[in-house]
Amino acid sequence: TPSSSAAPAPESSAPQSSVAEPAPEAPTSGGKIGVSMPTQSLQRWNQDGSNMKAELEAAGYEVDLQYAGDNDIPTQVSQLENMISGGCEALVIAAIDGSALTEVLKGAKDKGIPVISYDRLIMNSDAVSYYATFDNYKVGTFQGEFIKTALDLDNAAGPFNIELVTGAPDDNNVNFLFGGAMDVLNPYIESGKLVVPSGQTEKAQCATPNWSTEESQKRMENLITSNGYAPNGTKLDAVLCSNDSTSYGVQNALLAAGYTAENMPVITGQDCDKPNVKNIIAGTQSMSVFKDTRTLAAQVVKMVDAIMKGSEPEINDTTTYDNGTGIIPSFLCDPVVCTVDNYKELLIDSGYYTEADLA
Ligand code: BGC
Repeated sequence: TPSSSAAPAPESSAPQSSVAEPAPEAPTSGGKIGVSMPTQSLQRWNQDGSNMKAELEAAGYEVDLQYAGDNDIPTQVSQLENMISGGCEALVIAAIDGSALTEVLKGAKDKGIPVISYDRLIMNSDAVSYYATFDNYKVGTFQGEFIKTALDLDNAAGPFNIELVTGAPDDNNVNFLFGGAMDVLNPYIESGKLVVPSGQTEKAQCATPNWSTEESQKRMENLITSNGYAPNGTKLDAVLCSNDSTSYGVQNALLAAGYTAENMPVITGQDCDKPNVKNIIAGTQSMSVFKDTRTLAAQVVKMVDAIMKGSEPEINDTTTYDNGTGIIPSFLCDPVVCTVDNYKELLIDSGYYTEADLA
């Protein structure tokens, strides 16, 4: 929702009460908030950034929103230095490398600037006051459960072949996403119902630097070559993918190897990125996990507002996320499984996307 007063008028204006009265609850000069996002190359972070900016402004704050190039760690560090020296009174940070901000955040702590870790937990820094994210472990278990149900692992004879693809090793979320999925799948791997022909089951072996589509595509191409996967060759029943950008690369590799919507393995994802939802509709991706960035942004704006006004932000988890300096009080939003059966309701009816976005 647009800010009632300060926002520039949209070019083509829906009739609006032009001399809007300032919303009574909106403070006029709430202070400046720094919002640091990892990259503009992935759809979700653009949405996260613009949602945060719009909502903070609507709540009466000035916003310094920065994207760290394309996942460039030194850029993120120097943008944070500028926010700290430039008068930001609170920082909201989605870290590229969760462990690379310890030094720069000492500066925030010295100045008493509160830090909210956004989506990804910032590790090894006692400057972090709060964490807001989606329940990452739940996302992982949704993916694992989806594969379990799709292959009917409890009843079918099997064995089934699966390969495993996760995200950036410096992203703490990977521990929960991959961990959650493997907690579901491991018992079947141990019993032999599921087989990982490549033998690559460790997080480090399944990782994808920067969650890059190109990297996951390359790895899948290698897995195809070395294991002989093909529609008429070695059977591949499922590929666990921790998110949509990696899932997209995996699908590209499989499509290039001759797979089609009719014989694609079960493939998971996360984020409901537009190209992936199109693939869900086309039948090459089986599911994604919808994490409504509007919900997370709204929750973080509430957190910022509470902190700035000296009250306690809402949290709902005080046991899960230890960043190496202790447990960080967290708010976990709820993820939802998205498939071809419910994407319309989840994504279009909710106004997240238009029909045209997915055409
Ligand atoms: C986020 C995912 C995202 C991934 C790649 C993770 O930390 O939780 O939503 O797909 O990073 O940017």
